Amino acid sequence: MSSNLLLVDDEPNVPRAIRRALRSEGYKFLIANSAAEAFDLLRATPVDVVISDHRMPGVTGSEFLSEVNNRYPDTVRLMLSGQADIEAVIDAINEGSIFKFVAKPWKNDQLKQVVREASNRAQAQQVDEHTGWQTHKLFKTRLSALLEDQPARIVVGEIRNLATAWALLSKDQRRALADKIAQRCAAALGEPVIELASLDRGLFALALDISEGDDLINGLVERLSAPMVIDDQALRLHIAAGYVDSTAVGDSTPGALIRKAIVALTNADIEGTGYAGYRPNSMTSLKLRQSLEHDLSSALARSQFFLQLQPQVDSGNLRIRSAEALIRWQHPVHGLISPAQFIDMAERNGFINDIGVWVICSTMQQLETLAELGMGDVRLSFNLSPRQLTDGGTASWLTVLRQYAIEEPELMNQLELEVTESTVMDCSESATRALEEAKELGIRIALDDFGTGHSSLAQLNALPLDVLKLDRSLIQDIEINERSMTLLKHLASMAKDLGLEVIAEGVETQSQVQVCKDLHCDLIQGYAFYKPLDVEDFYRVLRSERHGQH
Ligand code: C2E
Ligand code: CA
Ligand code: CA
Repeated sequence: MSSNLLLVDDEPNVPRAIRRALRSEGYKFLIANSAAEAFDLLRATPVDVVISDHRMPGVTGSEFLSEVNNRYPDTVRLMLSGQADIEAVIDAINEGSIFKFVAKPWKNDQLKQVVREASNRAQAQQVDEHTGWQTHKLFKTRLSALLEDQPARIVVGEIRNLATAWALLSKDQRRALADKIAQRCAAALGEPVIELASLDRGLFALALDISEGDDLINGLVERLSAPMVIDDQALRLHIAAGYVDSTAVGDSTPGALIRKAIVALTNADIEGTGYAGYRPNSMTSLKLRQSLEHDLSSALARSQFFLQLQPQVDSGNLRIRSAEALIRWQHPVHGLISPAQFIDMAERNGFINDIGVWVICSTMQQLETLAELGMGDVRLSFNLSPRQLTDGGTASWLTVLRQYAIEEPELMNQLELEVTESTVMDCSESATRALEEAKELGIRIALDDFGTGHSSLAQLNALPLDVLKLDRSLIQDIEINERSMTLLKHLASMAKDLGLEVIAEGVETQSQVQVCKDLHCDLIQGYAFYKPLDVEDFYRVLRSERHGQH
Protein backbone atom coordinates (compact mmCIF):
# COMPACT_ATOMS: atom_id res chain seq x y z
CA MET A 1 0.00 0.00 0.00
CA SER A 2 1.54 3.31 -1.02
CA SER A 3 1.05 6.27 1.30
CA ASN A 4 -0.88 9.40 0.38
CA LEU A 5 1.11 12.54 1.15
CA LEU A 6 -0.49 15.95 1.52
CA LEU A 7 1.95 18.85 1.00
CA VAL A 8 0.82 22.23 2.32
CA ASP A 9 2.61 25.47 1.54
CA ASP A 10 1.60 28.85 0.18
CA GLU A 11 4.75 28.91 -1.95
CA PRO A 12 4.21 26.46 -4.83
CA ASN A 13 7.91 25.80 -5.40
CA VAL A 14 8.38 24.11 -2.00
CA PRO A 15 5.88 21.25 -2.63
CA ARG A 16 7.33 20.91 -6.09
CA ALA A 17 10.82 20.49 -4.68
CA ILE A 18 9.63 17.94 -2.11
CA ARG A 19 7.89 15.96 -4.80
CA ARG A 20 11.03 15.91 -6.89
CA ALA A 21 13.10 14.74 -3.95
CA LEU A 22 10.69 11.89 -3.16
CA ARG A 23 9.89 10.91 -6.74
CA SER A 24 11.45 7.46 -6.55
CA GLU A 25 9.66 6.54 -3.30
CA GLY A 26 6.27 5.61 -4.82
CA TYR A 27 4.02 7.97 -2.84
CA LYS A 28 0.88 9.63 -4.08
CA PHE A 29 0.89 13.41 -3.70
CA LEU A 30 -1.82 15.93 -2.92
CA ILE A 31 -0.96 19.61 -2.86
CA ALA A 32 -2.68 22.48 -1.05
CA ASN A 33 -1.80 26.17 -1.08
CA SER A 34 -3.56 27.00 2.17
CA ALA A 35 -4.91 25.43 5.32
CA ALA A 36 -8.49 25.76 4.01
CA GLU A 37 -7.59 23.95 0.79
CA ALA A 38 -5.80 21.28 2.83
CA PHE A 39 -8.95 20.59 4.89
CA ASP A 40 -10.99 20.26 1.70
CA LEU A 41 -8.58 17.59 0.50
CA LEU A 42 -8.52 15.83 3.89
CA ARG A 43 -12.30 15.58 3.83
CA ALA A 44 -12.30 14.09 0.37
CA THR A 45 -9.39 11.66 0.43
CA PRO A 46 -7.68 9.49 2.99
CA VAL A 47 -4.32 11.01 3.79
CA ASP A 48 -1.49 9.20 5.55
CA VAL A 49 1.12 11.91 6.00
CA VAL A 50 0.69 15.70 6.09
CA ILE A 51 3.77 17.86 5.49
CA SER A 52 3.25 21.54 6.21
CA ASP A 53 5.44 24.59 6.21
CA HIS A 54 5.45 26.56 9.41
CA ARG A 55 5.29 29.98 7.82
CA MET A 56 1.99 30.48 6.04
CA PRO A 57 -0.32 33.45 5.84
CA GLY A 58 -3.31 33.29 8.21
CA VAL A 59 -2.42 30.35 10.41
CA THR A 60 1.02 29.03 11.33
CA GLY A 61 1.99 25.49 10.40
CA SER A 62 1.86 24.40 14.04
CA GLU A 63 -1.66 25.80 14.50
CA PHE A 64 -2.75 24.10 11.30
CA LEU A 65 -1.20 20.73 12.21
CA SER A 66 -2.65 20.86 15.69
CA GLU A 67 -6.11 21.21 14.12
CA VAL A 68 -5.33 18.35 11.70
CA ASN A 69 -4.40 16.28 14.74
CA ASN A 70 -7.79 17.04 16.31
CA ARG A 71 -9.80 16.18 13.25
CA TYR A 72 -7.68 13.42 11.71
CA PRO A 73 -5.65 11.89 14.52
CA ASP A 74 -4.62 8.94 12.32
CA THR A 75 -2.56 11.13 10.01
CA VAL A 76 1.14 11.42 10.70
CA ARG A 77 2.20 15.07 10.65
CA LEU A 78 5.56 16.58 9.66
CA MET A 79 6.59 20.22 9.77
CA LEU A 80 9.09 22.12 7.66
CA SER A 81 10.72 24.98 9.41
CA GLY A 82 13.78 27.21 9.54
CA GLN A 83 15.91 27.83 12.63
CA ALA A 84 13.97 30.99 13.50
CA ASP A 85 10.84 29.05 14.39
CA ILE A 86 12.50 26.39 16.45
CA GLU A 87 10.47 27.17 19.59
CA ALA A 88 7.13 26.71 17.86
CA VAL A 89 8.42 23.40 16.52
CA ILE A 90 9.47 22.19 19.96
CA ASP A 91 6.05 23.09 21.37
CA ALA A 92 4.31 21.26 18.55
CA ILE A 93 6.38 18.13 19.11
CA ASN A 94 5.80 18.25 22.86
CA GLU A 95 2.05 18.63 22.38
CA GLY A 96 2.06 15.59 20.12
CA SER A 97 0.59 17.46 17.19
CA ILE A 98 3.59 16.67 15.00
CA PHE A 99 5.69 13.55 14.63
CA LYS A 100 8.95 15.08 13.42
CA PHE A 101 10.22 18.20 11.78
CA VAL A 102 12.44 18.79 8.80
CA ALA A 103 14.84 21.72 8.95
CA LYS A 104 15.00 24.04 5.97
CA PRO A 105 17.01 23.89 3.82
CA TRP A 106 16.77 20.11 3.84
CA LYS A 107 19.11 17.47 2.53
CA ASN A 108 17.27 15.08 0.21
CA ASP A 109 18.47 11.95 1.99
CA GLN A 110 17.35 13.28 5.32
CA LEU A 111 13.97 14.25 3.93
CA LYS A 112 13.52 10.80 2.41
CA GLN A 113 14.39 9.15 5.67
CA VAL A 114 11.97 11.20 7.77
CA VAL A 115 9.08 10.80 5.31
CA ARG A 116 9.74 7.06 5.12
CA GLU A 117 9.48 6.82 8.91
CA ALA A 118 6.28 8.85 8.87
CA SER A 119 4.80 6.69 6.14
CA ASN A 120 5.65 3.44 7.96
CA ARG A 121 4.11 4.81 11.11
CA ALA A 122 0.94 5.80 9.28
CA GLN A 123 0.64 2.36 7.71
CA ALA A 124 1.16 0.62 11.04
CA GLN A 125 -1.53 2.75 12.68
CA GLN A 126 -4.06 1.71 10.09
CA VAL A 127 -3.70 -1.98 10.55
CA ASP A 128 -5.25 -3.83 13.44
CA GLU A 129 -2.39 -5.61 15.20
CA HIS A 130 -4.33 -8.81 15.92
CA THR A 131 -6.02 -9.39 12.58
CA GLY A 132 -3.96 -7.46 10.06
CA TRP A 133 -7.22 -5.92 8.79
CA GLN A 134 -7.64 -2.18 8.45
CA THR A 135 -8.65 -0.32 11.59
CA HIS A 136 -12.04 1.02 12.53
CA LYS A 137 -10.74 4.57 12.10
CA LEU A 138 -9.38 3.98 8.64
CA PHE A 139 -12.63 2.33 7.65
CA LYS A 140 -14.58 5.38 8.75
CA THR A 141 -12.25 7.73 6.90
CA ARG A 142 -12.50 5.73 3.72
CA LEU A 143 -16.24 5.33 4.07
CA SER A 144 -16.72 9.04 4.48
CA ALA A 145 -14.71 9.66 1.29
CA LEU A 146 -16.66 6.96 -0.55
CA LEU A 147 -20.05 8.35 0.46
CA GLU A 148 -19.23 11.72 -1.09
CA ASP A 149 -19.17 10.00 -4.47
CA GLN A 150 -21.63 7.14 -4.23
CA PRO A 151 -24.10 5.41 -1.89
CA ALA A 152 -22.96 2.18 -0.25
CA ARG A 153 -24.20 -0.80 1.69
CA ILE A 154 -22.41 -1.13 5.02
CA VAL A 155 -22.20 -4.64 6.42
CA VAL A 156 -21.22 -5.39 10.00
CA GLY A 157 -20.54 -9.00 10.93
CA GLU A 158 -20.02 -10.58 14.29
CA ILE A 159 -17.97 -13.63 15.19
CA ARG A 160 -19.91 -14.77 18.21
CA ASN A 161 -17.46 -17.39 19.39
CA LEU A 162 -14.28 -15.43 18.74
CA ALA A 163 -13.15 -15.70 22.37
CA THR A 164 -13.44 -19.49 22.22
CA ALA A 165 -11.72 -19.67 18.85
CA TRP A 166 -8.86 -17.49 20.08
CA ALA A 167 -8.44 -19.54 23.20
CA LEU A 168 -7.74 -22.55 20.97
CA LEU A 169 -5.21 -20.80 18.76
CA SER A 170 -1.67 -19.51 19.09
CA LYS A 171 -0.81 -15.98 18.02
CA ASP A 172 0.26 -17.07 14.54
CA GLN A 173 -2.79 -19.25 14.16
CA ARG A 174 -5.02 -16.33 15.07
CA ARG A 175 -3.50 -14.36 12.25
CA ALA A 176 -4.07 -17.35 9.96
CA LEU A 177 -7.70 -17.39 11.06
CA ALA A 178 -8.03 -13.68 10.25
CA ASP A 179 -6.51 -14.33 6.81
CA LYS A 180 -8.94 -17.16 6.21
CA ILE A 181 -11.87 -14.95 7.13
CA ALA A 182 -10.61 -12.27 4.74
CA GLN A 183 -10.31 -14.86 1.94
CA ARG A 184 -13.83 -16.11 2.55
CA CYS A 185 -15.21 -12.59 2.53
CA ALA A 186 -13.52 -11.96 -0.79
CA ALA A 187 -14.84 -15.24 -2.19
CA ALA A 188 -18.38 -14.49 -1.05
CA LEU A 189 -18.58 -10.85 -2.03
CA GLY A 190 -16.68 -10.49 -5.26
CA GLU A 191 -15.15 -7.07 -4.87
CA PRO A 192 -16.28 -5.07 -1.87
CA VAL A 193 -15.80 -1.34 -2.32
CA ILE A 194 -14.04 -1.18 1.02
CA GLU A 195 -12.64 -4.43 2.24
CA LEU A 196 -12.54 -5.92 5.71
CA ALA A 197 -11.97 -3.76 8.78
CA SER A 198 -11.77 -4.70 12.48
CA LEU A 199 -14.26 -2.85 14.60
CA ASP A 200 -14.05 -4.32 18.05
CA ARG A 201 -14.09 -7.69 19.82
CA GLY A 202 -15.35 -9.98 17.09
CA LEU A 203 -17.03 -7.27 15.02
CA PHE A 204 -15.91 -6.49 11.51
CA ALA A 205 -17.16 -4.21 8.74
CA LEU A 206 -17.19 -4.00 4.96
CA ALA A 207 -18.76 -1.72 2.39
CA LEU A 208 -20.45 -3.03 -0.74
CA ASP A 209 -21.90 -1.57 -3.84
CA ILE A 210 -25.47 -0.66 -3.06
CA SER A 211 -26.92 -2.49 -6.04
CA GLU A 212 -25.87 -5.90 -4.65
CA GLY A 213 -28.73 -8.14 -3.55
CA ASP A 214 -28.99 -9.27 0.05
CA ASP A 215 -28.45 -12.89 -1.00
CA LEU A 216 -24.82 -11.81 -1.17
CA ILE A 217 -24.90 -11.21 2.58
CA ASN A 218 -26.66 -14.49 3.18
CA GLY A 219 -23.87 -16.12 1.16
CA LEU A 220 -21.28 -14.34 3.26
CA VAL A 221 -22.79 -15.64 6.51
CA GLU A 222 -23.00 -19.16 5.12
CA ARG A 223 -19.47 -19.21 3.82
CA LEU A 224 -18.00 -17.79 7.01
CA SER A 225 -19.94 -20.32 9.10
CA ALA A 226 -18.59 -23.34 7.22
CA PRO A 227 -16.06 -25.47 9.12
CA MET A 228 -12.42 -24.53 8.70
CA VAL A 229 -9.07 -25.93 9.69
CA ILE A 230 -6.21 -23.81 11.01
CA ASP A 231 -3.10 -26.00 11.12
CA ASP A 232 -4.66 -29.06 12.69
CA GLN A 233 -7.31 -27.18 14.65
CA ALA A 234 -10.79 -27.61 13.27
CA LEU A 235 -13.23 -24.86 14.06
CA ARG A 236 -16.55 -23.48 13.12
CA LEU A 237 -17.35 -19.80 13.54
CA HIS A 238 -20.75 -18.61 14.67
CA ILE A 239 -21.48 -15.66 12.43
CA ALA A 240 -24.28 -13.12 12.21
CA ALA A 241 -24.48 -10.02 10.05
CA GLY A 242 -26.44 -6.79 9.83
CA TYR A 243 -26.40 -4.21 7.08
CA VAL A 244 -27.66 -0.76 6.25
CA ASP A 245 -27.90 1.15 2.96
CA SER A 246 -26.61 4.68 3.19
CA THR A 247 -29.58 5.79 1.05
CA ALA A 248 -32.11 4.34 3.49
CA VAL A 249 -31.41 6.61 6.42
CA GLY A 250 -30.97 10.16 5.15
CA ASP A 251 -27.61 11.77 5.68
CA SER A 252 -25.67 9.76 8.18
CA THR A 253 -22.06 9.83 9.25
CA PRO A 254 -19.97 6.66 8.90
CA GLY A 255 -20.20 6.18 12.67
CA ALA A 256 -24.00 6.41 12.64
CA LEU A 257 -24.23 3.98 9.70
CA ILE A 258 -22.04 1.46 11.51
CA ARG A 259 -24.22 1.74 14.61
CA LYS A 260 -27.33 1.13 12.50
CA ALA A 261 -25.76 -1.95 10.93
CA ILE A 262 -25.11 -3.18 14.49
CA VAL A 263 -28.77 -2.61 15.39
CA ALA A 264 -29.69 -4.70 12.34
CA LEU A 265 -27.20 -7.33 13.51
CA THR A 266 -29.01 -7.72 16.82
CA ASN A 267 -32.29 -8.00 14.95
CA ALA A 268 -30.82 -10.90 13.00
CA ASP A 269 -31.20 -12.90 16.22
CA ILE A 270 -34.81 -12.02 16.66
CA GLU A 271 -35.56 -12.85 13.05
CA GLY A 272 -33.48 -16.00 13.37
CA THR A 273 -32.07 -15.65 9.85
CA GLY A 274 -28.40 -15.08 10.59
CA TYR A 275 -28.52 -11.70 8.84
CA ALA A 276 -30.86 -8.73 8.72
CA GLY A 277 -31.10 -5.31 7.10
CA TYR A 278 -31.68 -2.14 9.06
CA ARG A 279 -35.23 -0.85 9.04
CA PRO A 280 -35.65 2.79 10.03
CA ASN A 281 -38.48 1.96 12.42
CA SER A 282 -36.92 -1.19 13.84
CA MET A 283 -36.34 -0.95 17.54
CA THR A 284 -32.93 -1.08 19.08
CA SER A 285 -32.30 -4.38 20.79
CA LEU A 286 -32.51 -2.70 24.18
CA LYS A 287 -35.91 -1.16 23.48
CA LEU A 288 -37.15 -4.41 22.04
CA ARG A 289 -35.99 -6.26 25.13
CA GLN A 290 -37.76 -3.83 27.40
CA SER A 291 -40.94 -4.10 25.42
CA LEU A 292 -40.74 -7.91 25.41
CA GLU A 293 -40.13 -7.98 29.16
CA HIS A 294 -43.20 -5.89 29.63
CA ASP A 295 -45.33 -8.09 27.35
CA LEU A 296 -44.09 -11.29 28.94
CA SER A 297 -46.07 -10.55 32.10
CA SER A 298 -49.36 -10.78 30.26
CA ALA A 299 -48.42 -13.44 27.69
CA LEU A 300 -49.72 -16.28 29.83
CA ALA A 301 -53.08 -14.62 30.49
CA ARG A 302 -53.41 -13.89 26.78
CA SER A 303 -52.68 -17.50 25.79
CA GLN A 304 -49.72 -16.54 23.66
CA PHE A 305 -47.67 -19.61 24.63
CA PHE A 306 -47.93 -22.96 22.93
CA LEU A 307 -45.94 -26.17 22.88
CA GLN A 308 -44.14 -27.90 20.08
CA LEU A 309 -43.05 -31.50 20.35
CA GLN A 310 -39.79 -32.71 18.85
CA PRO A 311 -39.76 -36.46 18.25
CA GLN A 312 -36.91 -38.66 19.46
CA VAL A 313 -36.42 -41.82 17.45
CA ASP A 314 -35.13 -45.22 18.47
CA SER A 315 -31.66 -45.61 16.93
CA GLY A 316 -32.46 -49.24 16.06
CA ASN A 317 -35.77 -49.13 14.21
CA LEU A 318 -35.92 -45.34 13.77
CA ARG A 319 -39.45 -45.21 15.16
CA ILE A 320 -40.66 -42.44 17.45
CA ARG A 321 -40.41 -43.42 21.08
CA SER A 322 -40.59 -40.08 22.82
CA ALA A 323 -40.60 -36.32 22.33
CA GLU A 324 -39.30 -33.17 23.97
CA ALA A 325 -41.80 -30.42 24.76
CA LEU A 326 -40.47 -27.00 23.73
CA ILE A 327 -42.26 -23.79 24.61
CA ARG A 328 -43.08 -21.17 21.97
CA TRP A 329 -44.25 -17.58 22.36
CA GLN A 330 -46.40 -16.18 19.59
CA HIS A 331 -46.08 -12.42 20.09
CA PRO A 332 -48.84 -10.35 18.45
CA VAL A 333 -46.38 -7.82 16.99
CA HIS A 334 -42.96 -9.43 16.93
CA GLY A 335 -44.07 -12.86 15.82
CA LEU A 336 -42.55 -16.06 17.09
CA ILE A 337 -40.02 -15.45 19.87
CA SER A 338 -37.49 -18.13 20.70
CA PRO A 339 -37.32 -19.51 24.26
CA ALA A 340 -33.59 -18.84 24.07
CA GLN A 341 -34.63 -15.18 24.30
CA PHE A 342 -37.43 -15.09 26.79
CA ILE A 343 -36.62 -17.84 29.32
CA ASP A 344 -33.76 -15.67 30.58
CA MET A 345 -36.08 -12.73 31.01
CA ALA A 346 -38.69 -14.85 32.72
CA GLU A 347 -36.06 -16.11 35.13
CA ARG A 348 -34.98 -12.61 36.02
CA ASN A 349 -38.41 -11.23 36.75
CA GLY A 350 -39.88 -14.31 38.37
CA PHE A 351 -42.43 -15.28 35.69
CA ILE A 352 -40.54 -18.51 35.21
CA ASN A 353 -42.52 -20.15 37.99
CA ASP A 354 -45.84 -19.51 36.28
CA ILE A 355 -44.44 -20.41 32.89
CA GLY A 356 -42.94 -23.60 34.34
CA VAL A 357 -46.28 -24.63 35.76
CA TRP A 358 -47.94 -23.92 32.41
CA VAL A 359 -45.35 -26.12 30.65
CA ILE A 360 -45.95 -29.03 33.02
CA CYS A 361 -49.73 -28.77 32.76
CA SER A 362 -49.56 -28.59 28.95
CA THR A 363 -47.20 -31.55 28.77
CA MET A 364 -49.47 -33.58 31.05
CA GLN A 365 -52.39 -32.69 28.82
CA GLN A 366 -50.49 -34.12 25.84
CA LEU A 367 -49.76 -37.30 27.81
CA GLU A 368 -53.48 -37.63 28.53
CA THR A 369 -54.28 -37.24 24.83
CA LEU A 370 -51.64 -39.81 23.88
CA ALA A 371 -53.15 -42.29 26.36
CA GLU A 372 -56.62 -41.68 24.93
CA LEU A 373 -55.31 -42.27 21.42
CA GLY A 374 -53.85 -45.59 22.51
CA MET A 375 -50.29 -44.33 22.29
CA GLY A 376 -49.63 -44.24 26.01
CA ASP A 377 -46.17 -45.75 25.54
CA VAL A 378 -44.83 -42.48 24.09
CA ARG A 379 -42.81 -40.51 26.63
CA LEU A 380 -42.65 -36.74 26.86
CA SER A 381 -39.94 -34.62 28.43
CA PHE A 382 -40.08 -31.02 29.59
CA ASN A 383 -37.35 -28.52 30.51
CA LEU A 384 -36.70 -27.07 33.92
CA SER A 385 -34.70 -23.84 33.98
CA PRO A 386 -31.87 -23.21 36.47
CA ARG A 387 -33.83 -20.75 38.56
CA GLN A 388 -36.70 -23.20 38.96
CA LEU A 389 -34.37 -25.74 40.46
CA THR A 390 -32.79 -23.42 43.02
CA ASP A 391 -36.14 -23.00 44.76
CA GLY A 392 -35.84 -26.60 45.95
CA GLY A 393 -38.71 -28.29 47.77
CA THR A 394 -40.92 -25.21 47.90
CA ALA A 395 -40.91 -24.86 44.13
CA SER A 396 -44.26 -24.51 42.37
CA TRP A 397 -43.28 -27.05 39.68
CA LEU A 398 -42.78 -29.70 42.33
CA THR A 399 -46.12 -28.90 43.99
CA VAL A 400 -47.89 -29.35 40.66
CA LEU A 401 -46.11 -32.63 39.99
CA ARG A 402 -47.08 -33.94 43.44
CA GLN A 403 -50.68 -33.17 42.61
CA TYR A 404 -50.51 -34.97 39.25
CA ALA A 405 -48.88 -37.96 40.92
CA ILE A 406 -51.96 -38.29 43.12
CA GLU A 407 -54.49 -37.75 40.34
CA GLU A 408 -52.87 -39.58 37.44
CA PRO A 409 -50.11 -41.79 38.84
CA GLU A 410 -50.05 -43.99 35.73
CA LEU A 411 -48.89 -41.06 33.56
CA MET A 412 -45.88 -40.21 35.69
CA ASN A 413 -43.75 -42.98 34.23
CA GLN A 414 -44.15 -41.41 30.82
CA LEU A 415 -42.85 -38.06 32.02
CA GLU A 416 -39.23 -36.96 31.89
CA LEU A 417 -37.68 -33.85 33.39
CA GLU A 418 -34.66 -32.18 31.76
CA VAL A 419 -32.12 -30.16 33.73
CA THR A 420 -28.93 -28.84 32.21
CA GLU A 421 -25.53 -30.05 33.19
CA SER A 422 -24.34 -26.62 34.28
CA THR A 423 -27.37 -26.14 36.54
CA VAL A 424 -27.03 -29.34 38.51
CA MET A 425 -23.27 -29.18 38.90
CA ASP A 426 -23.46 -26.25 41.24
CA CYS A 427 -26.83 -27.17 42.62
CA SER A 428 -27.63 -27.09 46.30
CA GLU A 429 -28.63 -29.96 48.51
CA SER A 430 -32.26 -28.86 48.45
CA ALA A 431 -32.22 -28.90 44.64
CA THR A 432 -30.81 -32.43 44.62
CA ARG A 433 -33.53 -33.44 47.06
CA ALA A 434 -36.18 -31.88 44.80
CA LEU A 435 -34.90 -34.00 41.90
CA GLU A 436 -34.91 -37.07 44.12
CA GLU A 437 -38.49 -36.38 45.09
CA ALA A 438 -39.52 -35.98 41.45
CA LYS A 439 -37.88 -39.31 40.79
CA GLU A 440 -39.84 -40.91 43.63
CA LEU A 441 -43.01 -39.66 41.95
CA GLY A 442 -42.03 -41.87 39.03
CA ILE A 443 -40.59 -39.15 36.79
CA ARG A 444 -37.40 -39.84 34.87
CA ILE A 445 -34.57 -37.34 35.18
CA ALA A 446 -32.49 -36.36 32.14
CA LEU A 447 -29.26 -34.39 32.13
CA ASP A 448 -29.55 -31.89 29.28
CA ASP A 449 -26.74 -30.26 27.28
CA PHE A 450 -24.32 -32.89 28.53
CA GLY A 451 -20.74 -32.32 27.40
CA THR A 452 -20.86 -28.54 27.70
CA GLY A 453 -19.97 -28.47 31.39
CA HIS A 454 -17.21 -30.16 33.29
CA SER A 455 -18.95 -32.74 35.38
CA SER A 456 -17.02 -35.65 36.77
CA LEU A 457 -18.13 -39.24 37.08
CA ALA A 458 -18.47 -38.81 40.84
CA GLN A 459 -20.75 -35.81 40.46
CA LEU A 460 -22.92 -37.65 37.95
CA ASN A 461 -23.16 -40.62 40.26
CA ALA A 462 -24.47 -38.45 43.08
CA LEU A 463 -27.47 -37.34 41.02
CA PRO A 464 -30.65 -39.38 40.53
CA LEU A 465 -30.24 -39.58 36.75
CA ASP A 466 -31.86 -41.84 34.16
CA VAL A 467 -30.89 -40.19 30.90
CA LEU A 468 -27.98 -38.25 29.42
CA LYS A 469 -28.59 -35.94 26.48
CA LEU A 470 -25.38 -35.46 24.50
CA ASP A 471 -25.23 -31.83 23.50
CA ARG A 472 -25.60 -30.69 19.92
CA SER A 473 -22.16 -29.03 19.91
CA LEU A 474 -20.49 -32.43 20.41
CA ILE A 475 -22.43 -33.98 17.57
CA GLN A 476 -22.04 -31.09 15.16
CA ASP A 477 -18.27 -31.10 15.33
CA ILE A 478 -17.59 -34.78 14.81
CA GLU A 479 -17.21 -34.48 11.05
CA ILE A 480 -14.62 -31.77 11.30
CA ASN A 481 -12.85 -32.47 14.53
CA GLU A 482 -11.35 -35.75 15.57
CA ARG A 483 -11.16 -34.75 19.18
CA SER A 484 -14.93 -34.27 19.32
CA MET A 485 -15.34 -37.81 18.10
CA THR A 486 -13.05 -39.14 20.82
CA LEU A 487 -14.83 -37.09 23.45
CA LEU A 488 -18.21 -38.26 22.24
CA LYS A 489 -17.15 -41.90 22.34
CA HIS A 490 -15.83 -41.44 25.83
CA LEU A 491 -18.98 -39.72 27.11
CA ALA A 492 -21.30 -42.25 25.49
CA SER A 493 -19.46 -45.18 27.03
CA MET A 494 -19.32 -43.44 30.40
CA ALA A 495 -23.10 -43.01 30.28
CA LYS A 496 -23.50 -46.69 29.45
CA ASP A 497 -21.25 -47.66 32.37
CA LEU A 498 -23.50 -45.66 34.67
CA GLY A 499 -26.51 -47.52 33.30
CA LEU A 500 -28.00 -44.39 31.76
CA GLU A 501 -29.99 -44.06 28.60
CA VAL A 502 -28.29 -41.87 25.98
CA ILE A 503 -30.01 -39.39 23.71
CA ALA A 504 -28.03 -37.68 20.97
CA GLU A 505 -29.34 -34.18 20.35
CA GLY A 506 -29.07 -31.84 17.38
CA VAL A 507 -28.36 -34.62 14.90
CA GLU A 508 -28.67 -33.08 11.45
CA THR A 509 -27.01 -35.28 8.84
CA GLN A 510 -27.06 -38.93 7.86
CA SER A 511 -23.40 -39.37 8.71
CA GLN A 512 -24.09 -38.02 12.20
CA VAL A 513 -26.96 -40.52 12.47
CA GLN A 514 -24.53 -43.29 11.57
CA VAL A 515 -22.08 -42.18 14.26
CA CYS A 516 -24.88 -42.18 16.85
CA LYS A 517 -25.79 -45.72 15.88
CA ASP A 518 -22.15 -46.83 16.01
CA LEU A 519 -21.87 -45.39 19.50
CA HIS A 520 -25.06 -47.19 20.57
CA CYS A 521 -26.95 -44.06 21.51
CA ASP A 522 -30.47 -45.18 22.41
CA LEU A 523 -32.38 -42.28 20.95
CA ILE A 524 -31.73 -39.65 18.33
CA GLN A 525 -33.27 -36.18 18.27
CA GLY A 526 -32.61 -33.64 15.54
CA TYR A 527 -33.38 -32.18 12.15
CA ALA A 528 -32.09 -35.36 10.49
CA PHE A 529 -35.49 -36.81 11.45
CA TYR A 530 -37.82 -34.12 12.76
CA LYS A 531 -37.86 -30.47 13.67
CA PRO A 532 -40.05 -29.48 16.62
CA LEU A 533 -43.63 -30.03 15.42
CA ASP A 534 -46.96 -28.45 16.25
CA VAL A 535 -48.88 -30.97 18.34
CA GLU A 536 -51.39 -31.77 15.57
CA ASP A 537 -48.54 -32.57 13.22
CA PHE A 538 -46.89 -34.67 15.90
CA TYR A 539 -50.04 -36.79 16.26
CA ARG A 540 -50.39 -37.10 12.50
CA VAL A 541 -46.80 -38.34 12.15
CA LEU A 542 -47.21 -40.77 15.04
CA ARG A 543 -50.47 -42.15 13.74
CA SER A 544 -49.18 -42.74 10.25
CA GLU A 545 -46.08 -44.42 11.65
CA ARG A 546 -48.15 -46.76 13.77
CA HIS A 547 -50.98 -47.49 11.42
CA GLY A 548 -49.16 -47.13 8.16
CA GLN A 549 -51.42 -44.23 7.23
CA HIS A 550 -49.88 -41.57 5.01
P1 C2E B 1 -32.65 -27.38 24.62
O1 C2E B 1 -33.37 -27.95 25.79
O2 C2E B 1 -31.24 -27.81 24.42
O3 C2E B 1 -33.55 -27.71 23.37
C1 C2E B 1 -33.05 -28.09 22.13
C2 C2E B 1 -33.02 -26.94 21.18
O4 C2E B 1 -32.33 -27.35 19.99
C3 C2E B 1 -34.41 -26.51 20.71
O5 C2E B 1 -34.36 -25.10 20.47
C4 C2E B 1 -34.57 -27.27 19.40
O6 C2E B 1 -35.49 -26.66 18.53
C5 C2E B 1 -33.16 -27.21 18.85
N1 C2E B 1 -32.87 -28.31 17.94
C6 C2E B 1 -33.39 -29.56 17.95
N2 C2E B 1 -32.84 -30.30 16.97
C7 C2E B 1 -31.94 -29.53 16.35
C8 C2E B 1 -31.05 -29.75 15.24
O7 C2E B 1 -30.95 -30.83 14.64
N3 C2E B 1 -30.27 -28.71 14.86
C9 C2E B 1 -30.34 -27.50 15.49
N4 C2E B 1 -29.55 -26.51 15.03
N5 C2E B 1 -31.15 -27.25 16.54
C10 C2E B 1 -31.95 -28.26 16.97
P2 C2E B 1 -35.45 -24.14 21.08
O8 C2E B 1 -36.79 -24.79 21.00
O9 C2E B 1 -35.22 -22.81 20.46
O10 C2E B 1 -35.08 -24.10 22.61
C11 C2E B 1 -33.93 -23.47 23.06
C12 C2E B 1 -33.74 -23.68 24.53
O11 C2E B 1 -34.77 -23.01 25.28
C13 C2E B 1 -33.86 -25.13 24.94
O12 C2E B 1 -32.67 -25.77 24.69
C14 C2E B 1 -34.19 -24.98 26.41
O13 C2E B 1 -33.01 -24.76 27.15
C15 C2E B 1 -35.03 -23.73 26.45
N6 C2E B 1 -36.45 -24.13 26.52
C16 C2E B 1 -37.28 -24.53 25.55
N7 C2E B 1 -38.50 -24.82 26.02
C17 C2E B 1 -38.45 -24.60 27.36
C18 C2E B 1 -39.41 -24.74 28.43
O14 C2E B 1 -40.54 -25.14 28.24
N8 C2E B 1 -38.97 -24.42 29.69
C19 C2E B 1 -37.71 -23.99 29.94
N9 C2E B 1 -37.37 -23.70 31.18
N10 C2E B 1 -36.79 -23.87 28.96
C20 C2E B 1 -37.15 -24.18 27.68
CA1 CA C 1 -33.91 -29.76 26.61
CA1 CA D 1 -30.25 -29.67 25.06
